[in-house]
Amino acid sequence: MNFLHQGSGWVDFWTIVRWMGNVVFTSRFVVQWYATERKGQVVVPAIFWILSLAGSLLMLAYAIFYDKHHVIIFAYAFSWIPYLRNLIIHYRHENAHLACASCGAKVPPQSNFCPHCGAKLPAPTSSP
Ligand SMILES: [Zn+2]
Repeated sequence: MNFLHQGSGWVDFWTIVRWMGNVVFTSRFVVQWYATERKGQVVVPAIFWILSLAGSLLMLAYAIFYDKHHVIIFAYAFSWIPYLRNLIIHYRHENAHLACASCGAKVPPQSNFCPHCGAKLPAPTSSP
């Protein structure tokens, strides 16, 4: 018996894709909850958006290539856009971090003092 045939088997290829989408999408809540409990404040780590993007794309692939119903396709057609946008903004912000001249730690942009060693940081060149 071939469990990986294309079509309407109990465990065919697209059922595996859909289950992967379900598991990846659901795991993001566990990851976000863990990050929040660990920090003691509500945080949304980048991995949350990565899991959201991967899960929604898997579900969209299932909807387009297997389910083929316009209601299901529409449900996943656009949800990946804000996930991707949040990742772009997250990494843009990460790349804007400065290196502390005193200790070398990564410091958020617009910081006046290094949160790791307390050294005064040079004023941002873009400020008036
Ligand atoms: Zn420092």
